[in-house]
Parts: sequence; C-alpha cells; structure tokens
Amino acid sequence: MKRTLMNGKKIWISFLLLLAPLSFNGCDDSVSPSDFNLFSASDDIQLGQQLDAEITANPNEYPILNDQQATAYLQDIVNTITNSPEIKYKGTFAYQVKIINTSTVNAFAAPGGYLYVYKGLIKFLDNEATMAAVLAHEVAHAERRHATRRMTKQYGASIILGLILGNNPSVLEEIAANLLTGLAFLKNSRDDEYEADEYSFKYLQSTNWYPGATKLFFEKIGENQSGNKLEELLSTHPLPQERIKKIDNLIERNSVPPPTEANLFTTRYTNFKNSVPN
Ligand SMILES: [Zn+2]
Repeated sequence: MKRTLMNGKKIWISFLLLLAPLSFNGCDDSVSPSDFNLFSASDDIQLGQQLDAEITANPNEYPILNDQQATAYLQDIVNTITNSPEIKYKGTFAYQVKIINTSTVNAFAAPGGYLYVYKGLIKFLDNEATMAAVLAHEVAHAERRHATRRMTKQYGASIILGLILGNNPSVLEEIAANLLTGLAFLKNSRDDEYEADEYSFKYLQSTNWYPGATKLFFEKIGENQSGNKLEELLSTHPLPQERIKKIDNLIERNSVPPPTEANLFTTRYTNFKNSVPN
C-alpha cells in the first residue's frame, strides 16, 4: 500500500506544488478539479483487492452467495456493459460481481471494478434493464475513479505535504488504515451519484437495454419509501426526485422512446429472480 502510493509520486512534486493551491482550496471553478487524482489506476486496483479481501473475510456482515448460475447472470450483464466504447479500464479493472446474501436493497462498487449486489436488490427489481442500469451506475463509480478522487480531495494536501517534509509513510499509513475500516469511504458524494447516473445512461446506450432504466429504479423506490430495507439506500443517496429529473433530461435530449418489453427483458429477469433462493 505504502509503496504503491509513493511510486512515481516524487517526480510529480513540482507539478503538484503548482497545482495544489488550485485543487485543494475547495474552489469549484478551478481547472477540472473533480478529475484530479493523486492516485494511479494501479492504486485503485490494489485498494479494490484489499477491500474485496476484507469483504470476503467478513461473512457475518458480507455473506457471499455461492450461486454460480446467478452470479454468472449478473456477470454477463457487467461484461456487456463494459463492452461499451465509453469504458476506459476494461481489461485493467476487475469488473467482477459478487452477490451478498442479505435482504438489503443496495449495490456498491470498490475501486478497481469490484462490484457487489445485495440479494435484496435482485428481489426488489422487476426487469433486467433496471438491474443493468444499477450495475452500469456501479461500473461508473469504478470507471470514474470516484473513491480515489474523493481521497485526493480529502487527503491530497497532507499527502503532498508529507512528501515534501519527507514523513509521508506515517501520513500514508494513516490514510490506508482509515480507509479499510467499515468501508465508509465508499460513500459517494451527491455529484458522484449524479455523474454515475449520467454514465450509466451513456453505457446502456450501446446495449439492448432501455438506457433510462435508472429512472424506473427511482420510481420504484419512490413507491416503497416506507420500507426499512430501503433506509440505508436512501441515507446514502440523493433524493430520487432530483435524479429522476436529471435522467428525464437525458431521455429527452437523446430522444429515447418509452421502454417496451423488447428493451426491459422482464420475463428473462423474472426467471432469474425466481431461481435465486429466498
Ligand atoms: Zn452510487
């Protein structure tokens, strides 16, 4: 961890010194600060591997469902999404999916393309297009490297200061230790969520699924807000209404016709859903 984070960073010091005041003062109109990332794609992969190891080593909180057929069904969807020409890290990032065997209605992504879908989400959704939209949203979090971009914003100044003062190991060790506790850092910002919705739409446009299916997910959430299984999802995500509005704009701008069974795949999804034990 320590070594990877340090690799190649020293040569960037002078460059970073120039950039630092621009990027870390929280000024939103500086030069594309949101794309700025102190970490490399290999750092994302290594972080994701560590998190995946933590998740699989913690079956009390994250019981992985060992159902090859069900996992393969979701993996096929992920593989189709990552065939989109918009995907930059196909072949670099893992883009592998695992099912967590609890009734929580949610999904999440670790850096480097490690994706997790709760069984509760599988049971909650009605069609394949919506599952594809959620998976594409998670792929977008990995692909846009939201976690390490957020870490850059949060810790960038101390990483750079540590490099300058030569005491970086302690700073980096501290960051790494905090990161892997409770997966709290996977909580995305509101803007990251909007961006992931937008990219989900983009990715799905090159597939047979209805690209606006994220909207169907939010509409369904809207109908079920009182359910306590949705509490976690709603506490970590912006209000569905705002996100529906943004997706409506994309649907309109791209002249996407209303969905039909030909791009929702309800029957195929229902068969899959029923094959997953309760
Ligand atoms: Zn998200």
